Amino acid sequence: MHLDPARGPSAYAPATRIVSGGRPPSTPNAALNVPVTLTSTYVASDGATQPGDLAYGRWTNPTWEAFETVLGSLEGGRALLFGSGMAAVAAALDLVDEGATVVAPRHAYSGTLSILGELVERGRRRVRFADLSDTSAAREAIGGADLVWVETPTNPMLEVTDLPAVVAAAHATGALVVVDNTFATPVLQRPLESGADVVVHSVTKYLAGHSDVVLGAAATADDALLARLHGYRTLHGAIPGPLESFLALRGLRTLHLRVERAGRNAADLADRLRGHPAVERVRYPGFGAIVSVEVVGGADAAERVASSTRLWVHTTSLGGVESTLERRRRHATEAPTVPENLLRLSVGIEDVEDLWSDLSTALTDVLRPLLPPPPAPSP
Ligand code: PLP
Repeated sequence: MHLDPARGPSAYAPATRIVSGGRPPSTPNAALNVPVTLTSTYVASDGATQPGDLAYGRWTNPTWEAFETVLGSLEGGRALLFGSGMAAVAAALDLVDEGATVVAPRHAYSGTLSILGELVERGRRRVRFADLSDTSAAREAIGGADLVWVETPTNPMLEVTDLPAVVAAAHATGALVVVDNTFATPVLQRPLESGADVVVHSVTKYLAGHSDVVLGAAATADDALLARLHGYRTLHGAIPGPLESFLALRGLRTLHLRVERAGRNAADLADRLRGHPAVERVRYPGFGAIVSVEVVGGADAAERVASSTRLWVHTTSLGGVESTLERRRRHATEAPTVPENLLRLSVGIEDVEDLWSDLSTALTDVLRPLLPPPPAPSP
């Protein structure tokens, strides 16, 4: 149940690291799980504060560190837990200075686009938006940039970026590359291995996986960037709660199983949805568990589908064990190029036949008013 420290974590497969990483040392009578450490401060060591001293509750916490150990080993670097995904996004955007040029995707999580918009409005960053799933458009946009922000697949349009190509273009111009890896998770995609400098996550989603915490994380293999991110977290107080960190680690222990099962359900449903008469278009990148569909009958019809399913929960957020759906344009902050009739489906780990039965019934119901009236009975 514990990783052999002499072998190093990378000697083990990801599934083993997910289950066995970050546990207390295996000694007789020791707890199997890391406890929730509720403390604001730690007893001082003798003399001045030494590197490695815990010192104060805003600097680090053993429960955060257990989660960070596992996530860092999965991403291929070292990880830091934050109070939310947006706190990790803000920390990563702070890696470049006032006036820096950021290249960002046209579609991304609306909160990320909003924070970029605000930085531009206040004159703190310049931002060039581009379709980063089009590698030649990406290369053109990246020239002279200081930071390239990638989200792949994008929320909610599910566009996929060629990471090695974009990283090469960014590094050729001296730009840092930050990748939001929330949708793929390190089970399916490890951006640091493709040369990205920093990975960020909304831990709220797949990593925690049970829709019961809001947390974020950043990971990097670069010690200087890690120190900057840690400094940001400490000085801005963007820290997680120990109880949430414990719950996130408990959820993380099944990440590989959840990603596999939800991904299988999503691929199956994407196939079936392509054949449904109420669906105009299915967006599914071929991996992961988010499927976006455009519904015939426009925004109203899409809203009716979302509010008439029983098993699928009509709610925002994604990445939990339960299937959820939402029309993204119901949020005023969503990009106007996201179709009004687009429903984002977060496919969970339930039985796929039950999911299909519920969803296809709700979709078929929206067709009824669109069908021609039945012929009048002859006199
Ligand atoms: N990144 C992506 C891709 C997201 O979908 C979200 C939230 O939906 C975030 C970041 C922000 O994370 P949080 O809500 O945990 O702050």
